Amino acid sequence: MSTRFGRLAVYPRLPLSVLPTVIEPAPRLSAELGLKLSIKRDDLTGLAFGGNKTRQLEFYFGAAQAAGADTIVITGAVQSNYVRVAAAAAARLGMEVHVQAEERVPDMDALYHQSGNILLGDLLGAVRYSYPDGEDEAGADRAVQAIADTLRAQGKRPYVIPLAPGHPPLGALGYVLAAAEIVDQLQASGTRIDAVVVASGSGFTHAGLLFGLRALGQDIAVHGICVRRAAPAQVQRIAGHCRELAGMLGLAEVVSDRDIRLFDGVLAPGYGQLNPATADAIVLAARCEGLFLDPPYTGKVMAGLVALAANRTLAQDANVLFLHTGGTPALFAYGPQLQDWLKP
Ligand SMILES: *Cc1c(COP(=O)(O)O)cnc(C)c1O
Repeated sequence: MSTRFGRLAVYPRLPLSVLPTVIEPAPRLSAELGLKLSIKRDDLTGLAFGGNKTRQLEFYFGAAQAAGADTIVITGAVQSNYVRVAAAAAARLGMEVHVQAEERVPDMDALYHQSGNILLGDLLGAVRYSYPDGEDEAGADRAVQAIADTLRAQGKRPYVIPLAPGHPPLGALGYVLAAAEIVDQLQASGTRIDAVVVASGSGFTHAGLLFGLRALGQDIAVHGICVRRAAPAQVQRIAGHCRELAGMLGLAEVVSDRDIRLFDGVLAPGYGQLNPATADAIVLAARCEGLFLDPPYTGKVMAGLVALAANRTLAQDANVLFLHTGGTPALFAYGPQLQDWLKP
């Protein structure tokens, strides 16, 4: 498979995911939205409640093992799925794990700081640090490097999994491979899709999938739904990742800026904050398909998909693939807000 992607085989990869994940039809949601919707179940990638981070972390853990690391250091939001899956992978490999929890979401209650991914991280034995300013990406990045320096001074061999720009987007390689997985599945089943709808946060998923599809000569539209920052800044981020991927793989720059589609109409009031459209989308998916979405990511992406269907960016009866990127444990950290929403 990797021969389709230039130099991809030179990047060490430690398998963590149960692949391929299934693509399921969503008939009741389809009828509701006037589309032919199917769902790529990357919430079912296996390790520790799964999600898109298992595919991304395969390349970071591959690099960590190649570097002889015995300790993982990682940063993310308080309810980060990335941190949870990294802690689980570290546990499985017998590595120590230090996690930095960034306070990105204002006005959250005690449950948010104890339940969901925080509970799971504690069960996994992660050593937790707090970083007060979740909007300061460069500062959070420096702070994890400082944690690693302290660990190094203690004789440990830490490997830092970075989230901020300025590091090669190794995690996006997991979604370059996922693009090939999707293309193979569509070919095997003789089906066709017009568009994929995907979360755009760090952008590793969005950029990897877009780059992978274009490198395979597929012109399927990729709609990124902004979950972290507004569209103009996110376009730059995705473009940057795609340029870096071309360089890392020794391939042509197959993604033009015009090909980067972003919708930020459901982001407000900001990262990790529930809004009415997102709460509605979470309830809709549960009641149409028995499918759980989370407030920070997949709920917002479904809300974005609903908006793109309503404004006809997604044409009526188009074949649309929703990438379910996981996040299920975070649902429990938003229990009180969701219960309020459900009150008659
Ligand atoms: C991290 C995450 C995303 C966003 O993916 P990026 O690769 O960071 O853009 C989407 N959904 C879930 C559930 C996530 O945990």
